Amino acid sequence: MLATDFRSFVDAVRNAGDIVRLVGDYVHLKPGGSRLKGLCPFHQEKTPSFSVDPKNQLFYCFGCQTGGDVFKFVQLYEKIDFKEAVEFLANRWGVPLPARTAAVAAHDRFHQLNEAAQKFFRSRFTDAEAGRRARDYAEGRGLSRETLDRLGVGYAPAGWEELRSYLLGQRFKADELLAGGLAIARKDGRGEYDRFRDRLMFPIRDVQGRTIAFGGRCLDGSDPKYINSPETAAYVKGANLYGLDQAREAIRKAGFAVLVEGYLDLASVAQAGVAHVVASCGTAFTAEQAKLLGRYTDRVVVCYDGDAAGQNATARSLDLLLASGFQVHVADLPAGVDPDDFLKSDGAEAFERVPFQHSGIRSLEFT
Ligand SMILES: [Zn+2]
Repeated sequence: MLATDFRSFVDAVRNAGDIVRLVGDYVHLKPGGSRLKGLCPFHQEKTPSFSVDPKNQLFYCFGCQTGGDVFKFVQLYEKIDFKEAVEFLANRWGVPLPARTAAVAAHDRFHQLNEAAQKFFRSRFTDAEAGRRARDYAEGRGLSRETLDRLGVGYAPAGWEELRSYLLGQRFKADELLAGGLAIARKDGRGEYDRFRDRLMFPIRDVQGRTIAFGGRCLDGSDPKYINSPETAAYVKGANLYGLDQAREAIRKAGFAVLVEGYLDLASVAQAGVAHVVASCGTAFTAEQAKLLGRYTDRVVVCYDGDAAGQNATARSLDLLLASGFQVHVADLPAGVDPDDFLKSDGAEAFERVPFQHSGIRSLEFT
């Protein structure tokens, strides 16, 4: 592409969107005079020094002196270069791309691989015969068809090379399956086998709703109960929150998020009508997850299992959330009661009118 063509492409992208709507997808913004204010996504802070100027389409942080336009924001936030930021926003705002960079093409390939795997798991789940056990299991956990569809729940069949055969047939390469964490190399060097076998599959999506990894739950009592995708070029464990892509608007509306532990907890809490729910699946709650959540709200209800492991996880996440400037409340579930049981008996209203605390832990009365 000629330099002049690229410059006019950049201008076309810039004019297609709005900085308030863009930044608002990442940062919880509140009106403050001619600007909007929020917690800076680029440094740790407890009082907002980050502002967005709609008139000039610029952002600036008085805390860390970071500032710029829409492209600068995307560069810093997504950790990509200027050209990639332009393409990122072009995609987002529907401006046709004049050309593609190699980096973007590789990234797209990774997403295509995961989308293809997701399509396969879904087709097995909905297949009358192949998916029966998985559907029976999910129904036994009280999940409706609607909830399962919304979360894109799938099934990895029991064979050793079912996904592999499908993906190779879709012209993906064996190396790509390995790099994407979907296959494991055989020790004798003779090819690969499927990482996920005979499991209920939960696609893990980024905030833009693209599938980047999977969590697989066994259908019987076998160990391990969960298998998660390994870290890959595009999936960093503990940097993602399960369900955030579907919950972020609801979180903003509700003014707080409900934090649960697992995929199934999230599914039943969301099904009970609490749309502003995210889960820390696959890892202990991390500082990166706190930071990610902080872009949408500064209030969290921690709702982990009432058992000992759940209480330990609660204590750890509380320390992190409080240190990150959140107002936190702990839903104190009785021992042996998980969020699912609790919601079945008390309903979604249990999460309304939560008295948040700035510090310290006071139990919610759930009676
Ligand atoms: Zn800052």
